[in-house]
Amino acid sequence: MTDPPPPTPGQAGASGVTAPTGGEDERARAADPVIARFVPAMQLALGEARKAFDKDEIPVGAVILDASGEVIGTGRNDRERSADPTGHAEIVAIRTAATTLGTWRLSGCTLVVTLEPCTMCAGASVQARLDRVVYGAVDPKAGAVGSLWDVVRDRRLNHRPEVIAEVMADECAALLIEFFTHRRVR
Ligand SMILES: [Zn+2]
Repeated sequence: MTDPPPPTPGQAGASGVTAPTGGEDERARAADPVIARFVPAMQLALGEARKAFDKDEIPVGAVILDASGEVIGTGRNDRERSADPTGHAEIVAIRTAATTLGTWRLSGCTLVVTLEPCTMCAGASVQARLDRVVYGAVDPKAGAVGSLWDVVRDRRLNHRPEVIAEVMADECAALLIEFFTHRRVR
């Protein structure tokens, strides 16, 4: 077994994002009806991520869908601008959705986010009683929805959201990789 590569500075939360693979796997996933159902929402989340990119924030975006599939909250990472360590896309989107519904309880709702949630955001998804967490790129160095931890499907918890992973994973990862490449050359 080889040692893992050293972490790159300044890439908190997304340093280990899986590089795009493309090819057969990606095409097979795109044809999966469960995945295809969330592609439009992931495109909206990617739009939020691009807005974060333009503001020099790590490009992660999120949307919350209600039970009928309507968007009731959007968010993008704004940790630098807000100087808020909890300013992750998922937290921003969950807060917006809770304000929209007038309740903290987001039962029946789905979080769609471009990067696998961290421990904080996975925990917030459980606290919000979300029905489902859908994510794009895998984050093997900080992910808490199947990679390093699996906070949302821990059998010791009595609320466990369904997980749908790697929706438009290549596009989501490509944006993060472009951001960090761009940042390194400046
Ligand atoms: Zn997070």
